[in-house]
Amino acid sequence: MIMRTLISDGIVIAPRERLEGGWVLADGERIAAVGRGPPPAADRRIDAAGRFIAPGFIDLHAQGFRGYDLWDPSDENFLRAMRQMAATGVTAAQASVDPTLEVSRIMRPRIGRADGGARLLGLYFETPFISMEKRGAIPPDRVRPPSADLAREILAHSRGILSMITMAPELPGALDLVRLFRAAAGPLGPVVVALGHTAATYDQAVAGIEAGMTHCTHLFNAMPPLGHREPGAAGALLARPEASVELICDGVHLHPAVVRTAVACKGPAGTCLITDCVSARDRRVVDGAPRLADGTLAGSVLSMDRAVANVQRFAGVSLEQAVEMATLSPARAAGCDRAKGSLAPGKDADLVLFDAAVNVSLTMVGGEVVWSAEARNH
Ligand SMILES: [Zn+2]
Repeated sequence: MIMRTLISDGIVIAPRERLEGGWVLADGERIAAVGRGPPPAADRRIDAAGRFIAPGFIDLHAQGFRGYDLWDPSDENFLRAMRQMAATGVTAAQASVDPTLEVSRIMRPRIGRADGGARLLGLYFETPFISMEKRGAIPPDRVRPPSADLAREILAHSRGILSMITMAPELPGALDLVRLFRAAAGPLGPVVVALGHTAATYDQAVAGIEAGMTHCTHLFNAMPPLGHREPGAAGALLARPEASVELICDGVHLHPAVVRTAVACKGPAGTCLITDCVSARDRRVVDGAPRLADGTLAGSVLSMDRAVANVQRFAGVSLEQAVEMATLSPARAAGCDRAKGSLAPGKDADLVLFDAAVNVSLTMVGGEVVWSAEARNH
Protein backbone atom coordinates (compact mmCIF):
# COMPACT_ATOMS: atom_id res chain seq x y z
CA MET A 1 0.00 0.00 0.00
CA ILE A 2 1.25 3.47 -0.82
CA MET A 3 1.52 5.65 2.25
CA ARG A 4 -0.30 8.99 2.25
CA THR A 5 1.56 11.50 4.42
CA LEU A 6 0.01 14.80 5.43
CA ILE A 7 2.17 17.73 6.48
CA SER A 8 -0.27 20.13 8.10
CA ASP A 9 -0.63 23.38 10.04
CA GLY A 10 2.21 25.23 8.34
CA ILE A 11 2.73 28.18 6.03
CA VAL A 12 3.04 26.70 2.55
CA ILE A 13 5.30 28.59 0.13
CA ALA A 14 3.45 27.74 -3.03
CA PRO A 15 5.59 29.30 -4.60
CA ARG A 16 4.69 32.98 -5.01
CA GLU A 17 2.07 33.16 -2.28
CA ARG A 18 1.83 31.99 1.30
CA LEU A 19 -0.92 29.57 2.31
CA GLU A 20 -1.37 30.18 6.05
CA GLY A 21 -2.81 27.16 7.85
CA GLY A 22 -1.69 25.21 4.81
CA TRP A 23 -1.00 21.55 4.18
CA VAL A 24 0.71 19.28 1.69
CA LEU A 25 -0.46 15.71 1.02
CA ALA A 26 2.16 13.29 -0.28
CA ASP A 27 0.99 10.05 -1.87
CA GLY A 28 4.02 7.78 -2.05
CA GLU A 29 6.82 9.62 -3.77
CA ARG A 30 4.70 12.42 -5.23
CA ILE A 31 2.63 15.34 -4.05
CA ALA A 32 -1.09 14.57 -4.32
CA ALA A 33 -2.56 17.88 -3.17
CA VAL A 34 -1.70 21.24 -1.62
CA GLY A 35 -4.20 23.44 0.16
CA ARG A 36 -5.33 25.34 3.22
CA GLY A 37 -8.04 24.81 5.80
CA PRO A 38 -9.43 21.39 6.75
CA PRO A 39 -6.88 18.79 5.58
CA PRO A 40 -7.69 15.48 3.88
CA ALA A 41 -7.30 12.07 5.54
CA ALA A 42 -3.88 10.42 5.55
CA ASP A 43 -2.05 7.39 6.94
CA ARG A 44 0.57 9.48 8.66
CA ARG A 45 0.53 13.07 9.84
CA ILE A 46 3.39 15.50 10.43
CA ASP A 47 2.57 18.66 12.37
CA ALA A 48 4.46 21.61 10.89
CA ALA A 49 3.55 23.59 14.03
CA GLY A 50 3.28 26.92 12.21
CA ARG A 51 6.62 26.57 10.41
CA PHE A 52 7.15 27.20 6.72
CA ILE A 53 6.57 24.27 4.35
CA ALA A 54 8.73 24.88 1.27
CA PRO A 55 9.94 22.86 -1.70
CA GLY A 56 13.26 21.14 -0.97
CA PHE A 57 16.37 23.13 -1.80
CA ILE A 58 18.25 22.18 -4.97
CA ASP A 59 22.00 22.80 -4.85
CA LEU A 60 23.27 22.73 -8.43
CA HIS A 61 26.87 23.06 -7.39
CA ALA A 62 28.35 21.04 -4.52
CA GLN A 63 31.74 19.33 -4.34
CA GLY A 64 31.50 17.86 -0.86
CA PHE A 65 30.05 18.67 2.50
CA ARG A 66 31.32 18.82 6.06
CA GLY A 67 34.30 16.50 5.80
CA TYR A 68 33.16 14.26 2.92
CA ASP A 69 33.80 14.56 -0.82
CA LEU A 70 30.94 13.63 -3.14
CA TRP A 71 33.41 11.71 -5.35
CA ASP A 72 34.71 9.65 -2.41
CA PRO A 73 34.94 6.02 -3.62
CA SER A 74 33.31 4.97 -0.34
CA ASP A 75 29.52 4.92 -0.76
CA GLU A 76 29.18 5.36 2.98
CA ASN A 77 31.18 8.62 2.91
CA PHE A 78 29.19 9.84 -0.11
CA LEU A 79 25.94 9.12 1.76
CA ARG A 80 27.24 10.92 4.84
CA ALA A 81 27.68 14.05 2.72
CA MET A 82 24.21 13.71 1.15
CA ARG A 83 22.60 13.15 4.59
CA GLN A 84 24.37 16.18 6.03
CA MET A 85 23.16 18.21 3.07
CA ALA A 86 19.60 17.02 3.74
CA ALA A 87 19.93 18.37 7.29
CA THR A 88 20.36 21.83 5.70
CA GLY A 89 17.19 21.44 3.59
CA VAL A 90 18.78 20.11 0.39
CA THR A 91 16.68 17.44 -1.32
CA ALA A 92 18.55 17.30 -4.66
CA ALA A 93 22.03 18.26 -5.80
CA GLN A 94 24.47 18.13 -8.67
CA ALA A 95 28.00 16.98 -7.86
CA SER A 96 30.85 19.07 -9.25
CA VAL A 97 33.52 16.45 -9.96
CA ASP A 98 36.43 15.75 -12.31
CA PRO A 99 35.51 14.48 -15.80
CA THR A 100 37.44 11.21 -15.56
CA LEU A 101 36.49 7.63 -16.36
CA GLU A 102 37.23 6.62 -12.77
CA VAL A 103 34.97 9.31 -11.27
CA SER A 104 32.15 8.48 -13.72
CA ARG A 105 32.39 4.80 -12.71
CA ILE A 106 32.16 5.72 -9.03
CA MET A 107 29.29 8.16 -9.54
CA ARG A 108 27.08 6.35 -12.09
CA PRO A 109 25.27 4.06 -9.59
CA ARG A 110 24.66 7.04 -7.28
CA ILE A 111 22.69 9.13 -9.80
CA GLY A 112 18.99 9.46 -9.02
CA ARG A 113 19.21 7.67 -5.68
CA ALA A 114 18.25 9.21 -2.36
CA ASP A 115 19.25 6.55 0.21
CA GLY A 116 18.24 8.54 3.26
CA GLY A 117 19.67 11.88 2.14
CA ALA A 118 19.56 14.39 -0.70
CA ARG A 119 19.14 12.86 -4.16
CA LEU A 120 22.01 13.16 -6.65
CA LEU A 121 20.63 14.67 -9.87
CA GLY A 122 23.71 14.42 -12.05
CA LEU A 123 27.34 15.36 -12.53
CA TYR A 124 28.66 18.87 -13.12
CA PHE A 125 32.02 19.11 -14.88
CA GLU A 126 33.81 22.45 -14.42
CA THR A 127 36.78 21.21 -16.48
CA PRO A 128 38.58 20.73 -18.83
CA PHE A 129 37.54 23.36 -21.43
CA ILE A 130 38.06 26.48 -19.34
CA SER A 131 40.41 29.46 -19.27
CA MET A 132 43.84 28.69 -17.80
CA GLU A 133 43.97 32.24 -16.54
CA LYS A 134 40.59 32.05 -14.79
CA ARG A 135 40.83 28.48 -13.46
CA GLY A 136 40.77 29.73 -9.83
CA ALA A 137 41.68 26.88 -7.47
CA ILE A 138 41.53 24.24 -10.23
CA PRO A 139 44.98 22.66 -10.82
CA PRO A 140 46.48 23.64 -14.22
CA ASP A 141 46.80 20.01 -15.36
CA ARG A 142 42.98 19.73 -15.42
CA VAL A 143 42.66 22.47 -18.05
CA ARG A 144 42.72 21.54 -21.78
CA PRO A 145 42.04 23.38 -25.04
CA PRO A 146 38.71 22.48 -26.66
CA SER A 147 38.94 19.24 -28.62
CA ALA A 148 36.10 17.26 -30.16
CA ASP A 149 38.02 14.03 -29.54
CA LEU A 150 38.42 14.79 -25.84
CA ALA A 151 34.77 15.90 -25.60
CA ARG A 152 33.66 12.56 -27.12
CA GLU A 153 35.96 10.70 -24.74
CA ILE A 154 34.34 12.50 -21.79
CA LEU A 155 30.84 11.76 -23.10
CA ALA A 156 31.76 8.10 -23.63
CA HIS A 157 32.06 7.58 -19.87
CA SER A 158 29.61 10.22 -18.64
CA ARG A 159 26.69 9.95 -21.08
CA GLY A 160 23.41 9.87 -19.19
CA ILE A 161 24.95 11.03 -15.91
CA LEU A 162 26.53 14.34 -16.98
CA SER A 163 23.93 17.05 -16.48
CA MET A 164 26.00 20.27 -16.70
CA ILE A 165 29.42 21.31 -18.04
CA THR A 166 31.27 24.62 -17.72
CA MET A 167 33.15 26.08 -20.67
CA ALA A 168 34.96 29.28 -21.60
CA PRO A 169 33.35 30.44 -24.87
CA GLU A 170 36.39 32.47 -25.99
CA LEU A 171 38.56 29.39 -26.48
CA PRO A 172 39.03 28.39 -30.14
CA GLY A 173 36.58 25.61 -30.97
CA ALA A 174 34.54 26.03 -27.78
CA LEU A 175 31.28 26.91 -29.56
CA ASP A 176 31.37 23.66 -31.59
CA LEU A 177 31.66 21.77 -28.31
CA VAL A 178 28.66 23.68 -26.91
CA ARG A 179 26.59 22.16 -29.72
CA LEU A 180 28.15 18.72 -29.20
CA PHE A 181 27.29 18.64 -25.48
CA ARG A 182 23.83 20.16 -26.02
CA ALA A 183 23.08 17.27 -28.37
CA ALA A 184 24.00 14.68 -25.70
CA ALA A 185 21.40 13.25 -23.32
CA GLY A 186 21.89 13.91 -19.63
CA PRO A 187 19.92 12.45 -16.71
CA LEU A 188 17.44 15.37 -16.78
CA GLY A 189 17.34 16.15 -20.50
CA PRO A 190 19.99 17.61 -22.81
CA VAL A 191 23.32 18.42 -21.15
CA VAL A 192 23.29 22.04 -19.95
CA VAL A 193 26.35 24.05 -20.99
CA ALA A 194 27.33 26.80 -18.57
CA LEU A 195 29.59 29.76 -19.13
CA GLY A 196 32.27 30.11 -16.48
CA HIS A 197 35.94 30.05 -15.51
CA THR A 198 36.27 32.42 -18.46
CA ALA A 199 38.13 35.51 -19.62
CA ALA A 200 35.56 36.13 -22.40
CA THR A 201 34.84 39.61 -23.70
CA TYR A 202 31.22 40.74 -23.86
CA ASP A 203 30.97 39.75 -27.54
CA GLN A 204 32.53 36.33 -26.92
CA ALA A 205 30.14 35.70 -24.04
CA VAL A 206 27.13 36.73 -26.15
CA ALA A 207 28.33 34.34 -28.90
CA GLY A 208 28.42 31.57 -26.26
CA ILE A 209 24.89 32.37 -25.08
CA GLU A 210 23.66 32.42 -28.69
CA ALA A 211 25.35 29.06 -29.31
CA GLY A 212 23.30 27.53 -26.47
CA MET A 213 25.05 28.29 -23.18
CA THR A 214 22.01 28.71 -20.92
CA HIS A 215 23.63 28.97 -17.50
CA CYS A 216 26.54 30.58 -15.69
CA THR A 217 28.88 28.93 -13.21
CA HIS A 218 29.28 31.12 -10.08
CA LEU A 219 28.69 34.56 -11.66
CA PHE A 220 31.54 37.04 -10.98
CA ASN A 221 33.82 34.39 -9.45
CA ALA A 222 36.52 33.17 -11.88
CA MET A 223 35.79 35.79 -14.55
CA PRO A 224 36.90 39.41 -15.12
CA PRO A 225 34.91 42.05 -13.20
CA LEU A 226 32.17 44.09 -14.86
CA GLY A 227 33.71 47.18 -16.45
CA HIS A 228 31.53 50.02 -17.65
CA ARG A 229 33.30 50.07 -21.03
CA GLU A 230 34.29 46.38 -20.97
CA PRO A 231 31.29 44.52 -19.58
CA GLY A 232 32.86 41.10 -20.23
CA ALA A 233 31.08 37.83 -19.48
CA ALA A 234 29.60 39.24 -16.26
CA GLY A 235 27.99 42.11 -18.19
CA ALA A 236 26.67 39.78 -20.89
CA LEU A 237 25.16 37.46 -18.28
CA LEU A 238 23.50 40.32 -16.41
CA ALA A 239 22.12 41.84 -19.61
CA ARG A 240 20.90 38.72 -21.41
CA PRO A 241 17.78 36.99 -20.06
CA GLU A 242 18.48 33.64 -21.78
CA ALA A 243 21.06 32.50 -19.23
CA SER A 244 20.49 31.79 -15.54
CA VAL A 245 23.27 32.52 -13.06
CA GLU A 246 24.64 30.91 -9.90
CA LEU A 247 25.44 33.08 -6.88
CA ILE A 248 27.51 32.04 -3.85
CA CYS A 249 25.86 33.99 -1.03
CA ASP A 250 28.29 33.32 1.81
CA GLY A 251 29.25 36.98 2.19
CA VAL A 252 32.83 36.14 1.11
CA HIS A 253 32.64 35.24 -2.59
CA LEU A 254 30.43 38.24 -3.44
CA HIS A 255 29.85 41.59 -1.77
CA PRO A 256 26.20 41.88 -0.67
CA ALA A 257 25.75 44.89 -3.00
CA VAL A 258 26.86 42.73 -5.94
CA VAL A 259 24.31 40.08 -4.95
CA ARG A 260 21.66 42.79 -4.86
CA THR A 261 22.69 44.05 -8.31
CA ALA A 262 22.70 40.56 -9.81
CA VAL A 263 19.27 39.70 -8.40
CA ALA A 264 17.91 43.05 -9.63
CA CYS A 265 19.13 42.20 -13.15
CA LYS A 266 18.21 38.51 -13.32
CA GLY A 267 15.17 38.42 -11.02
CA PRO A 268 14.57 35.43 -8.75
CA ALA A 269 13.61 33.37 -11.83
CA GLY A 270 17.07 33.82 -13.36
CA THR A 271 19.06 33.42 -10.16
CA CYS A 272 20.18 30.12 -8.60
CA LEU A 273 21.58 30.03 -5.10
CA ILE A 274 24.41 27.51 -4.89
CA THR A 275 26.88 26.56 -2.19
CA ASP A 276 29.97 25.43 -4.19
CA CYS A 277 30.68 23.75 -0.86
CA VAL A 278 33.69 21.48 -0.46
CA SER A 279 34.53 18.87 2.15
CA ALA A 280 37.24 21.27 3.42
CA ARG A 281 39.07 18.16 4.60
CA ASP A 282 42.49 19.23 3.35
CA ARG A 283 42.04 23.00 3.06
CA ARG A 284 42.35 25.76 5.58
CA VAL A 285 39.27 27.89 6.15
CA VAL A 286 40.51 31.50 6.33
CA ASP A 287 38.18 34.49 6.68
CA GLY A 288 35.05 32.43 6.16
CA ALA A 289 36.06 30.29 3.16
CA PRO A 290 38.49 27.49 2.18
CA ARG A 291 41.54 28.86 0.35
CA LEU A 292 44.75 27.80 -1.34
CA ALA A 293 48.02 28.87 0.32
CA ASP A 294 48.08 32.07 -1.78
CA GLY A 295 44.60 33.09 -0.61
CA THR A 296 42.72 31.98 -3.78
CA LEU A 297 39.17 30.93 -2.86
CA ALA A 298 38.72 27.15 -3.17
CA GLY A 299 35.01 26.48 -2.82
CA SER A 300 32.98 27.40 0.24
CA VAL A 301 31.67 26.08 3.54
CA LEU A 302 28.24 27.56 2.81
CA SER A 303 25.00 25.58 3.23
CA MET A 304 21.75 26.17 1.33
CA ASP A 305 19.76 27.10 4.46
CA ARG A 306 22.29 29.89 5.18
CA ALA A 307 22.25 30.97 1.52
CA VAL A 308 18.44 31.35 1.67
CA ALA A 309 18.74 33.36 4.90
CA ASN A 310 21.64 35.50 3.61
CA VAL A 311 20.16 36.44 0.24
CA GLN A 312 17.11 38.01 1.91
CA ARG A 313 19.45 40.36 3.76
CA PHE A 314 21.95 40.89 0.92
CA ALA A 315 19.43 41.49 -1.89
CA GLY A 316 16.46 42.81 0.09
CA VAL A 317 14.16 40.10 -1.27
CA SER A 318 11.24 38.28 0.39
CA LEU A 319 11.45 34.77 1.81
CA GLU A 320 9.33 33.56 -1.12
CA GLN A 321 11.82 35.05 -3.61
CA ALA A 322 14.77 33.59 -1.70
CA VAL A 323 13.08 30.17 -1.74
CA GLU A 324 12.40 30.47 -5.49
CA MET A 325 16.14 31.04 -6.05
CA ALA A 326 16.88 27.84 -4.11
CA THR A 327 14.15 25.68 -5.66
CA LEU A 328 12.27 26.49 -8.88
CA SER A 329 15.06 28.52 -10.50
CA PRO A 330 17.74 25.82 -10.12
CA ALA A 331 15.20 23.16 -11.17
CA ARG A 332 14.52 25.11 -14.37
CA ALA A 333 18.24 25.73 -15.01
CA ALA A 334 18.96 22.00 -14.73
CA GLY A 335 15.89 20.96 -16.71
CA CYS A 336 13.99 19.14 -13.93
CA ASP A 337 11.29 21.73 -13.14
CA ARG A 338 8.50 19.44 -14.33
CA ALA A 339 9.27 17.13 -11.40
CA LYS A 340 10.88 19.43 -8.85
CA GLY A 341 11.18 22.98 -7.59
CA SER A 342 7.68 23.72 -6.29
CA LEU A 343 4.93 22.18 -4.20
CA ALA A 344 2.35 21.16 -6.77
CA PRO A 345 0.30 18.01 -7.44
CA GLY A 346 2.27 15.46 -9.45
CA LYS A 347 5.68 16.80 -8.49
CA ASP A 348 8.13 14.88 -6.33
CA ALA A 349 7.35 15.00 -2.60
CA ASP A 350 10.59 16.82 -1.81
CA LEU A 351 10.03 19.41 0.90
CA VAL A 352 11.51 21.11 3.91
CA LEU A 353 10.15 22.65 7.12
CA PHE A 354 11.89 25.65 8.63
CA ASP A 355 11.31 28.66 10.87
CA ALA A 356 11.54 32.37 9.97
CA ALA A 357 15.34 32.28 10.36
CA VAL A 358 15.52 29.28 7.97
CA ASN A 359 16.49 26.80 10.69
CA VAL A 360 15.54 23.48 9.09
CA SER A 361 13.54 21.10 11.28
CA LEU A 362 12.52 18.40 8.78
CA THR A 363 13.50 17.32 5.28
CA MET A 364 11.49 14.95 3.07
CA VAL A 365 12.81 13.38 -0.14
CA GLY A 366 10.43 11.43 -2.36
CA GLY A 367 7.85 11.19 0.44
CA GLU A 368 10.36 9.85 2.98
CA VAL A 369 11.50 11.87 5.99
CA VAL A 370 15.29 11.79 5.63
CA TRP A 371 16.08 14.25 8.39
CA SER A 372 14.24 15.53 11.43
CA ALA A 373 15.52 17.75 14.24
CA GLU A 374 13.16 16.00 16.65
CA ALA A 375 14.41 12.56 15.76
CA ARG A 376 17.92 13.77 16.39
CA ASN A 377 17.06 15.12 19.83
CA HIS A 378 15.54 11.85 21.04
ZN1 LIG B 1 34.44 26.87 -10.09
